Amino acid sequence: MTDHTTTDTLRTPIVAVLGHVDHGKTSLLDKIRGSAVSEGEAGAITQHIGATDIPLDTISGMAGELIDPTDFDLPGLLFIDTPGHHSFSTLRARGGALADIAVLVVDVNDGFQPQTEEAIDILRRTGTPFVVAANKVDTTPGWNSQDGQPIQRSLEAQSERAESRLNENLYEIIGQLSDAGFSADLYWRVQDFQKNIGVVPLSAVTGEGVPDLLTVLMGLSQRFMKEEMAIDVFGAGEGTVLEVKDERGFGATIDTVVYDGVVHNGDQIVVGGQEEPIVTEIRALLQPRPLEEIRTEKKFEKVGEVGAAAGVKIAAPDLDRAMAGAPVRVVRDRPVEDVIEEVKAELAEIEVDTAEDGVVVKADTLGSLEAMANALREAEVPILRAEVGDIAPRDIAVAETANQDEHKAILGFNVDLLANAETELENADVKLFTDEVIYQLIEDYETYVEEKQRAQQ
Ligand code: GDP
Repeated sequence: MTDHTTTDTLRTPIVAVLGHVDHGKTSLLDKIRGSAVSEGEAGAITQHIGATDIPLDTISGMAGELIDPTDFDLPGLLFIDTPGHHSFSTLRARGGALADIAVLVVDVNDGFQPQTEEAIDILRRTGTPFVVAANKVDTTPGWNSQDGQPIQRSLEAQSERAESRLNENLYEIIGQLSDAGFSADLYWRVQDFQKNIGVVPLSAVTGEGVPDLLTVLMGLSQRFMKEEMAIDVFGAGEGTVLEVKDERGFGATIDTVVYDGVVHNGDQIVVGGQEEPIVTEIRALLQPRPLEEIRTEKKFEKVGEVGAAAGVKIAAPDLDRAMAGAPVRVVRDRPVEDVIEEVKAELAEIEVDTAEDGVVVKADTLGSLEAMANALREAEVPILRAEVGDIAPRDIAVAETANQDEHKAILGFNVDLLANAETELENADVKLFTDEVIYQLIEDYETYVEEKQRAQQ
Protein backbone atom coordinates (compact mmCIF):
# COMPACT_ATOMS: atom_id res chain seq x y z
CA MET A 1 0.00 0.00 0.00
CA THR A 2 1.52 3.29 -1.00
CA ASP A 3 1.45 6.21 1.32
CA HIS A 4 -0.85 8.56 -0.54
CA THR A 5 -0.32 11.49 1.74
CA THR A 6 3.30 11.51 0.61
CA THR A 7 2.57 10.73 -3.02
CA ASP A 8 0.10 13.55 -3.29
CA THR A 9 2.56 16.17 -2.17
CA LEU A 10 5.44 15.09 -4.42
CA ARG A 11 5.24 16.72 -7.77
CA THR A 12 7.23 15.84 -10.87
CA PRO A 13 10.79 17.10 -10.50
CA ILE A 14 11.99 19.56 -13.14
CA VAL A 15 15.26 18.62 -14.79
CA ALA A 16 17.48 20.99 -16.79
CA VAL A 17 20.34 19.93 -19.05
CA LEU A 18 23.43 22.16 -19.03
CA GLY A 19 26.93 22.07 -20.43
CA HIS A 20 29.41 23.43 -22.94
CA VAL A 21 28.35 23.91 -26.55
CA ASP A 22 28.66 20.70 -28.64
CA HIS A 23 29.11 18.47 -25.62
CA GLY A 24 25.81 16.76 -26.47
CA LYS A 25 22.94 18.40 -24.55
CA THR A 26 20.49 18.34 -27.48
CA SER A 27 21.48 14.81 -28.45
CA LEU A 28 20.93 13.59 -24.91
CA LEU A 29 17.47 15.17 -24.68
CA ASP A 30 16.59 13.74 -28.11
CA LYS A 31 17.75 10.30 -27.04
CA ILE A 32 15.76 10.40 -23.83
CA ARG A 33 12.63 11.65 -25.63
CA GLY A 34 13.11 9.18 -28.48
CA SER A 35 13.49 6.13 -26.28
CA ALA A 36 10.56 7.27 -24.14
CA VAL A 37 8.38 7.41 -27.26
CA SER A 38 9.50 3.98 -28.44
CA GLU A 39 8.98 2.61 -24.96
CA GLY A 40 5.41 3.63 -25.74
CA GLU A 41 3.84 2.23 -22.60
CA ALA A 42 0.54 3.14 -21.05
CA GLY A 43 1.04 6.81 -20.38
CA ALA A 44 3.45 7.66 -23.17
CA ILE A 45 5.23 10.95 -22.89
CA THR A 46 3.45 14.28 -23.00
CA GLN A 47 4.89 17.21 -24.83
CA HIS A 48 4.42 20.46 -22.97
CA ILE A 49 5.49 23.96 -23.81
CA GLY A 50 9.24 24.02 -23.32
CA ALA A 51 9.26 20.73 -21.44
CA THR A 52 8.69 17.00 -21.85
CA ASP A 53 6.94 14.97 -19.20
CA ILE A 54 8.02 11.33 -18.91
CA PRO A 55 5.93 9.28 -16.47
CA LEU A 56 7.43 6.87 -13.98
CA ASP A 57 6.20 3.78 -15.84
CA THR A 58 7.95 4.82 -19.01
CA ILE A 59 11.16 5.67 -17.16
CA SER A 60 11.11 2.34 -15.45
CA GLY A 61 10.58 0.64 -18.82
CA MET A 62 13.55 2.56 -20.23
CA ALA A 63 15.78 1.75 -17.28
CA GLY A 64 14.93 -1.95 -17.39
CA GLU A 65 16.34 -3.91 -14.48
CA LEU A 66 17.90 -0.82 -12.93
CA ILE A 67 14.66 0.68 -11.60
CA ASP A 68 11.92 -0.84 -9.50
CA PRO A 69 9.02 1.62 -9.89
CA THR A 70 7.58 0.66 -6.51
CA ASP A 71 10.62 2.30 -4.90
CA PHE A 72 9.46 5.72 -6.07
CA ASP A 73 6.71 8.14 -5.11
CA LEU A 74 7.51 10.47 -7.97
CA PRO A 75 5.09 10.76 -10.90
CA GLY A 76 8.01 10.95 -13.37
CA LEU A 77 10.48 13.54 -14.63
CA LEU A 78 9.85 16.80 -16.48
CA PHE A 79 12.76 17.68 -18.77
CA ILE A 80 13.17 21.29 -19.83
CA ASP A 81 13.46 21.03 -23.62
CA THR A 82 15.71 23.92 -24.42
CA PRO A 83 19.20 22.93 -23.45
CA GLY A 84 22.08 25.28 -22.90
CA HIS A 85 21.77 28.96 -22.38
CA HIS A 86 18.01 29.04 -21.89
CA SER A 87 17.64 26.43 -19.22
CA PHE A 88 21.00 27.54 -17.92
CA SER A 89 20.14 31.17 -17.53
CA THR A 90 16.64 30.80 -16.18
CA LEU A 91 17.83 28.29 -13.63
CA ARG A 92 17.22 30.02 -10.34
CA ALA A 93 16.88 28.33 -7.02
CA ARG A 94 15.80 31.33 -5.02
CA GLY A 95 12.15 32.07 -4.53
CA GLY A 96 11.22 28.86 -6.25
CA ALA A 97 13.38 26.99 -8.67
CA LEU A 98 12.79 26.51 -12.30
CA ALA A 99 14.90 23.38 -12.25
CA ASP A 100 15.06 21.12 -9.22
CA ILE A 101 17.79 18.90 -10.58
CA ALA A 102 20.36 19.36 -13.33
CA VAL A 103 22.32 17.16 -15.69
CA LEU A 104 25.72 18.63 -16.48
CA VAL A 105 26.87 17.21 -19.81
CA VAL A 106 30.64 16.97 -20.28
CA ASP A 107 32.28 15.54 -23.39
CA VAL A 108 34.46 12.80 -21.96
CA ASN A 109 37.29 13.56 -24.41
CA ASP A 110 37.09 17.31 -24.03
CA GLY A 111 36.68 17.68 -20.26
CA PHE A 112 35.75 20.95 -18.60
CA GLN A 113 35.35 23.92 -20.94
CA PRO A 114 34.38 27.56 -20.23
CA GLN A 115 30.61 26.96 -20.33
CA THR A 116 31.07 23.92 -18.09
CA GLU A 117 32.68 26.25 -15.56
CA GLU A 118 29.87 28.78 -15.99
CA ALA A 119 27.30 26.06 -15.41
CA ILE A 120 29.15 24.80 -12.32
CA ASP A 121 29.17 28.35 -10.91
CA ILE A 122 25.41 28.64 -11.31
CA LEU A 123 24.80 25.18 -9.85
CA ARG A 124 26.96 26.02 -6.87
CA ARG A 125 25.36 29.41 -6.32
CA THR A 126 21.82 28.06 -6.52
CA GLY A 127 22.59 24.88 -4.58
CA THR A 128 20.96 22.78 -7.32
CA PRO A 129 21.67 19.05 -6.99
CA PHE A 130 23.19 17.66 -10.17
CA VAL A 131 24.65 14.63 -11.86
CA VAL A 132 27.37 14.62 -14.49
CA ALA A 133 26.78 12.90 -17.82
CA ALA A 134 30.25 12.03 -19.14
CA ASN A 135 29.09 11.90 -22.74
CA LYS A 136 30.42 10.41 -25.99
CA VAL A 137 32.01 7.27 -24.49
CA ASP A 138 31.41 5.66 -27.89
CA THR A 139 34.17 7.85 -29.33
CA THR A 140 36.80 6.43 -26.98
CA PRO A 141 39.28 4.45 -29.06
CA GLY A 142 38.75 0.73 -28.54
CA TRP A 143 35.20 1.04 -27.19
CA ASN A 144 32.84 -1.70 -28.35
CA SER A 145 29.16 -1.03 -28.11
CA GLN A 146 27.48 -3.24 -25.49
CA ASP A 147 24.05 -1.84 -26.17
CA GLY A 148 21.43 -2.75 -23.59
CA GLN A 149 23.93 -3.44 -20.80
CA PRO A 150 24.11 -1.25 -17.73
CA ILE A 151 27.14 0.95 -18.33
CA GLN A 152 29.08 -0.37 -15.35
CA ARG A 153 28.93 -3.91 -16.71
CA SER A 154 29.62 -2.60 -20.16
CA LEU A 155 32.73 -0.85 -18.92
CA GLU A 156 34.00 -3.98 -17.26
CA ALA A 157 33.54 -5.89 -20.50
CA GLN A 158 35.56 -3.41 -22.56
CA SER A 159 38.97 -4.05 -24.02
CA GLU A 160 41.82 -2.94 -21.81
CA ARG A 161 42.69 -0.20 -24.24
CA ALA A 162 39.23 1.34 -24.18
CA GLU A 163 38.91 0.91 -20.47
CA SER A 164 42.18 2.55 -19.54
CA ARG A 165 41.63 5.43 -21.93
CA LEU A 166 38.10 5.97 -20.72
CA ASN A 167 39.09 5.66 -17.07
CA GLU A 168 41.79 8.25 -17.58
CA ASN A 169 39.28 10.68 -19.08
CA LEU A 170 36.66 9.97 -16.44
CA TYR A 171 39.14 10.57 -13.61
CA GLU A 172 40.19 13.79 -15.26
CA ILE A 173 36.57 14.97 -15.01
CA ILE A 174 36.32 13.76 -11.41
CA GLY A 175 39.51 15.74 -10.67
CA GLN A 176 38.10 18.84 -12.34
CA LEU A 177 34.93 18.54 -10.26
CA SER A 178 37.06 18.27 -7.17
CA ASP A 179 39.01 21.42 -8.16
CA ALA A 180 35.62 23.10 -8.41
CA GLY A 181 34.86 22.04 -4.84
CA PHE A 182 32.66 18.99 -5.43
CA SER A 183 33.54 15.53 -4.33
CA ALA A 184 32.60 13.20 -7.15
CA ASP A 185 32.98 9.59 -8.19
CA LEU A 186 31.74 7.11 -10.74
CA TYR A 187 28.06 6.76 -9.94
CA TRP A 188 28.14 3.14 -8.83
CA ARG A 189 30.57 4.03 -6.06
CA VAL A 190 28.51 6.93 -4.73
CA GLN A 191 26.48 6.18 -1.61
CA ASP A 192 24.76 9.52 -1.20
CA PHE A 193 24.11 11.53 -4.37
CA GLN A 194 23.34 14.64 -2.39
CA LYS A 195 26.76 14.70 -0.80
CA ASN A 196 28.70 13.38 -3.77
CA ILE A 197 28.30 14.03 -7.45
CA GLY A 198 27.70 10.89 -9.47
CA VAL A 199 29.50 10.74 -12.80
CA VAL A 200 27.64 8.58 -15.34
CA PRO A 201 29.62 7.59 -18.44
CA LEU A 202 27.24 7.44 -21.39
CA SER A 203 26.66 7.95 -25.08
CA ALA A 204 23.80 10.13 -26.27
CA VAL A 205 24.19 8.49 -29.68
CA THR A 206 24.15 4.76 -28.85
CA GLY A 207 22.07 5.27 -25.69
CA GLU A 208 24.48 3.31 -23.52
CA GLY A 209 24.43 4.64 -19.97
CA VAL A 210 21.15 6.54 -20.46
CA PRO A 211 19.22 4.05 -18.27
CA ASP A 212 21.92 4.51 -15.64
CA LEU A 213 21.54 8.30 -15.83
CA LEU A 214 17.75 8.03 -15.41
CA THR A 215 18.27 5.77 -12.40
CA VAL A 216 20.58 8.26 -10.71
CA LEU A 217 18.21 11.14 -11.56
CA MET A 218 15.28 9.29 -10.02
CA GLY A 219 17.22 8.49 -6.85
CA LEU A 220 18.49 12.04 -6.50
CA SER A 221 15.05 13.52 -7.24
CA GLN A 222 13.28 11.28 -4.78
CA ARG A 223 15.58 12.35 -1.95
CA PHE A 224 15.52 15.99 -2.93
CA MET A 225 11.77 16.22 -3.49
CA LYS A 226 11.02 14.47 -0.21
CA GLU A 227 13.21 16.78 1.78
CA GLU A 228 12.70 20.07 0.01
CA MET A 229 9.52 19.97 -1.95
CA ALA A 230 6.44 19.31 0.11
CA ILE A 231 4.36 21.67 -2.00
CA ASP A 232 0.72 22.57 -2.09
CA VAL A 233 -0.32 21.05 -5.38
CA PHE A 234 -3.78 22.61 -5.15
CA GLY A 235 -2.54 26.08 -4.15
CA ALA A 236 -2.27 29.25 -6.24
CA GLY A 237 -0.03 28.59 -9.24
CA GLU A 238 3.58 29.75 -9.31
CA GLY A 239 5.92 29.58 -12.24
CA THR A 240 8.78 31.09 -14.19
CA VAL A 241 8.69 32.68 -17.65
CA LEU A 242 10.83 30.68 -20.10
CA GLU A 243 10.22 32.86 -23.13
CA VAL A 244 8.08 35.77 -24.27
CA LYS A 245 6.72 35.05 -27.77
CA ASP A 246 4.29 36.62 -30.19
CA GLU A 247 1.69 34.10 -31.22
CA ARG A 248 -0.65 34.72 -34.13
CA GLY A 249 -4.16 35.38 -32.87
CA PHE A 250 -2.99 35.83 -29.27
CA GLY A 251 -0.41 38.64 -29.28
CA ALA A 252 2.40 38.43 -26.76
CA THR A 253 2.32 35.17 -24.80
CA ILE A 254 4.58 33.69 -22.13
CA ASP A 255 5.89 30.15 -22.20
CA THR A 256 5.87 29.29 -18.54
CA VAL A 257 7.00 26.42 -16.38
CA VAL A 258 4.56 25.98 -13.51
CA TYR A 259 6.47 24.56 -10.55
CA ASP A 260 3.88 24.89 -7.82
CA GLY A 261 0.11 24.86 -7.46
CA VAL A 262 -2.51 25.15 -10.19
CA VAL A 263 -3.12 27.76 -12.90
CA HIS A 264 -6.66 28.11 -14.28
CA ASN A 265 -7.99 29.80 -17.34
CA GLY A 266 -9.32 33.23 -16.27
CA ASP A 267 -7.00 33.53 -13.24
CA GLN A 268 -5.61 36.91 -12.35
CA ILE A 269 -1.80 36.77 -12.50
CA VAL A 270 1.16 38.96 -11.65
CA VAL A 271 4.18 38.64 -13.95
CA GLY A 272 7.63 40.23 -13.60
CA GLY A 273 7.81 43.01 -16.20
CA GLN A 274 10.50 45.30 -17.50
CA GLU A 275 9.63 48.29 -15.32
CA GLU A 276 6.78 47.22 -13.08
CA PRO A 277 5.08 43.89 -12.41
CA ILE A 278 2.29 43.24 -14.92
CA VAL A 279 -1.16 42.51 -13.49
CA THR A 280 -3.41 40.78 -15.99
CA GLU A 281 -5.99 38.05 -16.49
CA ILE A 282 -5.39 34.80 -18.37
CA ARG A 283 -7.29 34.69 -21.66
CA ALA A 284 -6.13 31.26 -22.70
CA LEU A 285 -3.94 28.47 -21.41
CA LEU A 286 -2.36 26.68 -24.35
CA GLN A 287 -0.55 23.38 -24.79
CA PRO A 288 0.57 21.70 -28.01
CA ARG A 289 -2.02 19.61 -29.82
CA PRO A 290 -1.46 15.87 -29.96
CA LEU A 291 0.99 14.93 -32.73
CA GLU A 292 -1.63 13.42 -35.05
CA GLU A 293 -3.60 16.66 -35.06
CA ILE A 294 -0.67 18.99 -35.47
CA ARG A 295 -1.13 19.34 -39.22
CA THR A 296 -4.36 21.17 -38.67
CA GLU A 297 -4.20 24.97 -38.71
CA LYS A 298 -4.03 25.42 -34.99
CA LYS A 299 -0.86 24.41 -33.20
CA PHE A 300 -2.32 24.72 -29.75
CA GLU A 301 -5.14 23.38 -27.74
CA LYS A 302 -6.87 25.40 -25.04
CA VAL A 303 -6.85 23.76 -21.64
CA GLY A 304 -8.81 24.70 -18.55
CA GLU A 305 -6.04 24.30 -16.01
CA VAL A 306 -2.54 22.97 -15.47
CA GLY A 307 -0.95 21.73 -12.27
CA ALA A 308 2.70 21.64 -11.28
CA ALA A 309 4.96 20.61 -12.76
CA ALA A 310 4.14 21.51 -16.34
CA GLY A 311 5.00 23.77 -19.22
CA VAL A 312 2.18 25.93 -20.58
CA LYS A 313 1.73 28.93 -22.86
CA ILE A 314 -0.21 31.74 -21.22
CA ALA A 315 -2.06 34.25 -23.38
CA ALA A 316 -3.15 37.44 -21.64
CA PRO A 317 -3.23 41.18 -22.32
CA ASP A 318 -0.12 43.29 -21.65
CA LEU A 319 2.44 40.49 -21.69
CA ASP A 320 4.73 42.21 -24.20
CA ARG A 321 6.83 43.66 -21.39
CA ALA A 322 7.18 40.38 -19.50
CA MET A 323 10.75 39.20 -18.91
CA ALA A 324 12.14 35.73 -19.49
CA GLY A 325 13.27 34.35 -16.16
CA ALA A 326 10.73 36.42 -14.22
CA PRO A 327 8.19 34.98 -11.77
CA VAL A 328 4.52 34.34 -12.59
CA ARG A 329 2.08 34.20 -9.67
CA VAL A 330 -1.64 33.47 -9.58
CA VAL A 331 -3.59 35.83 -7.35
CA ARG A 332 -5.95 33.83 -5.18
CA ASP A 333 -7.30 34.29 -1.65
CA ARG A 334 -5.15 37.33 -0.97
CA PRO A 335 -4.85 40.95 -2.07
CA VAL A 336 -3.18 41.56 -5.42
CA GLU A 337 -0.90 44.14 -3.72
CA ASP A 338 0.70 41.38 -1.65
CA VAL A 339 1.44 39.36 -4.76
CA ILE A 340 2.91 42.42 -6.51
CA GLU A 341 5.19 43.00 -3.52
CA GLU A 342 6.27 39.36 -3.59
CA VAL A 343 7.15 39.54 -7.28
CA LYS A 344 9.04 42.80 -6.70
CA ALA A 345 10.95 41.26 -3.80
CA GLU A 346 11.93 38.28 -5.90
CA LEU A 347 13.14 40.50 -8.73
CA ALA A 348 15.08 42.65 -6.27
CA GLU A 349 17.10 39.59 -5.31
CA ILE A 350 18.75 39.68 -8.67
CA GLU A 351 21.76 41.61 -7.70
CA VAL A 352 23.24 43.89 -10.28
CA ASP A 353 25.49 46.51 -8.74
CA THR A 354 25.47 49.55 -10.96
CA ALA A 355 27.95 52.40 -10.87
CA GLU A 356 28.03 56.08 -11.86
CA ASP A 357 30.09 55.15 -14.86
CA GLY A 358 30.30 51.86 -16.73
CA VAL A 359 29.06 49.78 -19.63
CA VAL A 360 25.47 48.96 -20.65
CA VAL A 361 24.54 45.28 -20.35
CA LYS A 362 21.60 43.60 -22.09
CA ALA A 363 20.69 39.93 -21.76
CA ASP A 364 17.89 37.61 -22.84
CA THR A 365 16.74 36.50 -19.40
CA LEU A 366 17.01 37.62 -15.81
CA GLY A 367 19.19 34.64 -15.02
CA SER A 368 21.65 35.42 -17.78
CA LEU A 369 21.67 39.09 -16.77
CA GLU A 370 22.66 38.02 -13.29
CA ALA A 371 25.33 35.69 -14.64
CA MET A 372 26.70 38.54 -16.79
CA ALA A 373 26.75 40.88 -13.80
CA ASN A 374 28.68 38.34 -11.73
CA ALA A 375 31.20 37.73 -14.48
CA LEU A 376 31.69 41.47 -15.01
CA ARG A 377 32.19 42.04 -11.29
CA GLU A 378 34.95 39.43 -11.33
CA ALA A 379 36.51 41.07 -14.36
CA GLU A 380 36.23 44.44 -12.55
CA VAL A 381 34.17 46.02 -15.29
CA PRO A 382 31.63 48.50 -13.83
CA ILE A 383 28.02 48.52 -15.05
CA LEU A 384 26.07 51.68 -15.74
CA ARG A 385 22.79 50.00 -16.66
CA ALA A 386 21.70 46.35 -16.95
CA GLU A 387 18.40 45.20 -18.46
CA VAL A 388 16.64 42.25 -20.05
CA GLY A 389 15.73 42.63 -23.72
CA ASP A 390 17.03 43.39 -27.21
CA ILE A 391 19.21 46.42 -27.83
CA ALA A 392 17.03 49.48 -28.37
CA PRO A 393 17.84 53.11 -29.37
CA ARG A 394 17.47 54.07 -25.70
CA ASP A 395 20.37 51.75 -24.74
CA ILE A 396 22.64 53.47 -27.22
CA ALA A 397 21.70 56.86 -25.82
CA VAL A 398 22.48 55.63 -22.30
CA ALA A 399 25.84 54.12 -23.37
CA GLU A 400 26.81 57.46 -24.90
CA THR A 401 26.43 59.17 -21.54
CA ALA A 402 29.30 57.10 -20.05
CA ASN A 403 32.23 59.28 -18.97
CA GLN A 404 35.21 57.20 -19.91
CA ASP A 405 35.58 56.32 -23.56
CA GLU A 406 36.12 52.64 -22.86
CA HIS A 407 32.75 52.55 -21.07
CA LYS A 408 30.85 53.78 -24.11
CA ALA A 409 29.98 50.17 -24.91
CA ILE A 410 27.03 47.79 -24.91
CA LEU A 411 27.56 44.12 -24.03
CA GLY A 412 24.66 42.02 -25.30
CA PHE A 413 24.27 38.38 -24.29
CA ASN A 414 21.92 36.35 -26.51
CA VAL A 415 20.14 39.49 -27.73
CA ASP A 416 19.74 41.27 -31.07
CA LEU A 417 20.12 44.85 -32.15
CA LEU A 418 16.59 46.08 -32.95
CA ALA A 419 16.18 47.27 -36.53
CA ASN A 420 15.20 50.77 -35.40
CA ALA A 421 18.48 51.05 -33.46
CA GLU A 422 20.81 50.37 -36.39
CA THR A 423 21.20 53.93 -37.68
CA GLU A 424 21.40 55.18 -34.12
CA LEU A 425 24.36 52.91 -33.52
CA GLU A 426 26.07 53.98 -36.75
CA ASN A 427 25.87 57.61 -35.73
CA ALA A 428 26.84 57.11 -32.12
CA ASP A 429 30.26 56.78 -30.56
CA VAL A 430 29.31 53.48 -28.96
CA LYS A 431 30.89 50.07 -29.45
CA LEU A 432 28.59 47.04 -29.54
CA PHE A 433 29.61 43.53 -28.46
CA THR A 434 27.25 40.56 -28.74
CA ASP A 435 27.82 36.87 -28.15
CA GLU A 436 26.14 33.71 -26.90
CA VAL A 437 28.98 32.83 -24.57
CA ILE A 438 29.58 35.02 -21.54
CA TYR A 439 33.31 34.53 -21.23
CA GLN A 440 33.76 35.24 -24.95
CA LEU A 441 31.78 38.45 -24.69
CA ILE A 442 33.85 39.69 -21.77
CA GLU A 443 37.10 38.61 -23.39
CA ASP A 444 36.22 40.53 -26.55
CA TYR A 445 35.45 43.62 -24.51
CA GLU A 446 38.70 43.34 -22.53
CA THR A 447 40.73 42.97 -25.70
CA TYR A 448 39.05 46.08 -27.09
CA VAL A 449 39.87 48.05 -23.93
CA GLU A 450 43.51 46.91 -23.98
CA GLU A 451 43.89 47.93 -27.61
CA LYS A 452 42.29 51.26 -26.92
CA GLN A 453 44.64 51.91 -24.02
CA ARG A 454 47.67 50.87 -26.04
CA ALA A 455 46.65 53.22 -28.85
CA GLN A 456 46.39 56.10 -26.41
CA GLN A 457 49.89 55.60 -25.01
P1 GDP B 1 24.94 20.63 -27.71
O1 GDP B 1 25.51 21.84 -28.37
O2 GDP B 1 25.52 20.43 -26.33
O3 GDP B 1 23.45 20.57 -27.69
O4 GDP B 1 25.49 19.38 -28.53
P2 GDP B 1 24.76 18.48 -29.62
O5 GDP B 1 23.81 17.55 -28.99
O6 GDP B 1 24.28 19.34 -30.71
O7 GDP B 1 26.00 17.58 -30.12
C1 GDP B 1 27.11 18.14 -30.79
C2 GDP B 1 27.68 17.13 -31.73
O8 GDP B 1 28.18 15.99 -31.01
C3 GDP B 1 26.65 16.57 -32.71
O9 GDP B 1 27.28 16.41 -33.95
C4 GDP B 1 26.27 15.23 -32.12
O10 GDP B 1 25.87 14.30 -33.08
C5 GDP B 1 27.57 14.80 -31.46
N1 GDP B 1 27.32 13.95 -30.28
C6 GDP B 1 26.57 14.24 -29.20
N2 GDP B 1 26.58 13.22 -28.33
C7 GDP B 1 27.34 12.25 -28.88
C8 GDP B 1 27.74 10.93 -28.46
O11 GDP B 1 27.39 10.43 -27.38
N3 GDP B 1 28.55 10.25 -29.31
C9 GDP B 1 28.97 10.74 -30.49
N4 GDP B 1 29.77 10.00 -31.24
N5 GDP B 1 28.62 11.96 -30.91
C10 GDP B 1 27.82 12.71 -30.13
